[in-house]
Amino acid sequence: MQTIPCLLCTRKLEKRTSKRGKPYFVCDFCGIQLFVRRKQGIDRLDAFFKNAEKAEVHYQQHAQNFHKMHAILKEIDDVQQEIRNIGFLHYFSDQKYRIRKSLNTRLEFLFSQLEEFSGEDKKNAVAKKPESFG
Ligand SMILES: [Zn+2]
Repeated sequence: MQTIPCLLCTRKLEKRTSKRGKPYFVCDFCGIQLFVRRKQGIDRLDAFFKNAEKAEVHYQQHAQNFHKMHAILKEIDDVQQEIRNIGFLHYFSDQKYRIRKSLNTRLEFLFSQLEEFSGEDKKNAVAKKPESFG
């Protein structure tokens, strides 16, 4: 849905099309009507919507990565707590040693995932940076 904010109340105004095919916006709440009649204005409006869509995609990707990273950080914390719970090396049975080794492997995996995500986020930030318009 293509919307712009109302100048006064900032409600989302949906793009409508006039009988002549020109875009316009109406705020039923404020009674504002905004018509875009010239080519330059219509082009600007199109550019604005294109940028808004790209920015939205980037934001969603970023939020998704943030949630994944948060989940990984939480698991790292849990695994580290488990390792601490097992205790010190000289009390280790064979079993405890193997558990600790598995936990450390898991920890390594989580750290590598975390690094991958932070790298991906940077790549996306460069690739999907919205173009400026004006
Ligand atoms: Zn309004």
